[in-house]
Amino acid sequence: MIFRVLTIFPELFDAFWENSIIKRAIEGHHISAAAVDIRRYTSDKHRTTDDRPYGGGPGMVMKPEPLAKAIQAAKKITPFSRTVLMTPQGRRFNQSLAHELAREEGVIFVCGRYEGVDERIFNQYIDDEISIGDYVLTGGELPVMIIIDAVTRLLPGVLGGADSAEKDSFSEGLLEHAHYTRPRDFEGDRVPDVLLSGNHQAIEQWRTETALIRTFLKRPDLMEDRAFTAREINILRK
Ligand code: SAM
Repeated sequence: MIFRVLTIFPELFDAFWENSIIKRAIEGHHISAAAVDIRRYTSDKHRTTDDRPYGGGPGMVMKPEPLAKAIQAAKKITPFSRTVLMTPQGRRFNQSLAHELAREEGVIFVCGRYEGVDERIFNQYIDDEISIGDYVLTGGELPVMIIIDAVTRLLPGVLGGADSAEKDSFSEGLLEHAHYTRPRDFEGDRVPDVLLSGNHQAIEQWRTETALIRTFLKRPDLMEDRAFTAREINILRK
């Protein structure tokens, strides 16, 4: 999968590409990722990417010409990609949108700054608008990192354990079950006996129970439209 990030601060991504899952995914050729400086596509000597808004008012707006050229250049590398504008006004990002993006051949992300981008970029070059939540950040770079991280871990072969992404919270419409590691007794709080029993069926049952209980307690909204399996209904009835 190809990720191209169009930004005026490409250096913000240096540490991101160089660590953890993303680094492994690049080295394993699961993803190709690069942050591209929009200023490369300016034509004036000051490499201007923003200007004052028509109609007046505070702040600056990202100019359309450099963005259009940057998107066109990225499209040459990844012609079948989805071009996504980061904006607090977009579709709210969640796990199902991460799965949707993971099926793309590539994604070109446009990071806004200042008051955002000239509307004609949205009209002519953007396939999708995504927000990471109902709050306003200074730029689209952090939201893009969040999305690339969430999407990359879903790509086949990226995570160490074959099924670890499948069991993550939200993948089955529930929060994930509780986890414990050594020591068995931490400040008087003991690991549940069932996890030490070696009985895989009982462990699976306990995990489903804790996933259902914690989803009910922490995120009851997730349960509203969810179709429960027969096994889950049996556990809930107990
Ligand atoms: N004036 C814009 C508005 O009120 O909708 C907000 C602009 S914001 C200061 C600058 C840029 O940060 C946006 O163009 C967008 O790329 C990015 N951004 C800010 N909050 C975001 C969010 N919640 N999700 C995605 N991108 C966001």
